[in-house]
Amino acid sequence: MRGVAVLGSTGSIGVSALNVLRRHADRFRVVALTGGSNAELLRTQADEFRPDFVGLASGTRPEEFACGADCLVRAATHPEADIVLNAVVGFAGLDATLAALRAGKRVALANKESLVTAGELVLQAARDGGGELVPVDSEHSAVLQCLAAATESPHRLVLTASGGPFREWPAAEIAAATVAEALNHPTWQMGSKITVDSATLANKALEVIEAHHLFGLPYEHIAAVVHPQSIIHAFVEFADGSVLAQLGFPSMELPILYALTHPERLPDGGVRRFDPVAAGNLTFEPLREEVFPAFGLGVASGRAGGTAPAVFNAGNETAVAAFLAGRIPFGRIPAVIGAVLEQHQPVPAASVDAVRDADAWARRRAEELIG
Ligand code: NAD
Ligand code: MG
Repeated sequence: MRGVAVLGSTGSIGVSALNVLRRHADRFRVVALTGGSNAELLRTQADEFRPDFVGLASGTRPEEFACGADCLVRAATHPEADIVLNAVVGFAGLDATLAALRAGKRVALANKESLVTAGELVLQAARDGGGELVPVDSEHSAVLQCLAAATESPHRLVLTASGGPFREWPAAEIAAATVAEALNHPTWQMGSKITVDSATLANKALEVIEAHHLFGLPYEHIAAVVHPQSIIHAFVEFADGSVLAQLGFPSMELPILYALTHPERLPDGGVRRFDPVAAGNLTFEPLREEVFPAFGLGVASGRAGGTAPAVFNAGNETAVAAFLAGRIPFGRIPAVIGAVLEQHQPVPAASVDAVRDADAWARRRAEELIG
């Protein structure tokens, strides 16, 4: 029996993770749950799974649960937790990722923002504490699964992108898209922040940076391609030109299960089995970088390194929140990110404090620009 702490259990990935864990209760015990502010759902989950620790980061009824602001790190280092599934959204998840790795846990990482903003520090924490980082993100799970079937190192990775709701829209219409339009994702049901990131394609830039750290490939060897059906999740090319890919109907439950069991697999009746005829035609097209500038800004920040990706991420988080609150139009999201990055002098991300300072500076700067 392995103990699992689920951070962000009240979100989209958290709920999917509990679906998986419910089906595999003979293998995994939920030892800790944390939510952000949805006390009601957290209570229901706690009543079902009976974890040792329940924490609510904020919201109206924190007194009912074990803790407040430090609850993520307490859950991430829970002595009974072998695996920490970090499904918190945003930079808020970084400390928990670091703490869990330093405590020697397996981190099933959905919170890609931790790896994007502090990649080297996260890898160092894993080395120091003997922790293990396993991706939940479907594209990175796909790469990991292809690599598990190979004996050679990969030469090049190609991550697929659905293209989001604006894949075929003209640029002028995208700039004026409403919140409802941006949240209308064609293939994935996700939290609002990552859904907007999928509409700007900032998400794919975050994933290129994530892949760079996870698989140790230079940026020139990591590409993205639009694949509207979201059936193939990634391609892995080897030195001889041969390519492996991983396929499945879009559901996060499969990569979540794999992150728990890697390198093994468990039979699971809850995941829709693949059927190539039902999947229909699989098509591919280039990512329209000039129409979705957030992608190029993000990849350039990854290449620049140091604190640049943390600034990209903070500018993005701030601009997306402002868009969702109706404060800026969709078209200003990349403009805010670009302006913040332009004013930033990257320094080495030598410590968590350096990353935190860059994050705080970029949020302030983005807020000033938003006005
Ligand atoms: P979500 O908004 O549905 O859930 C986020 C969770 O984090 C909630 O439980 C929320 O309460 C908690 N949270 C938010 N801010 C917090 C804070 N300051 N302190 C503590 N808890 C906080 O988001 P999601 O779609 O589940 O995504 C979660 C993460 O997984 C993101 O990093 C996202 O990029 C990544 N991811 C999601 C999907 C998907 O299909 N949803 C796919 C791949 C990767
Ligand atoms: Mg993904």
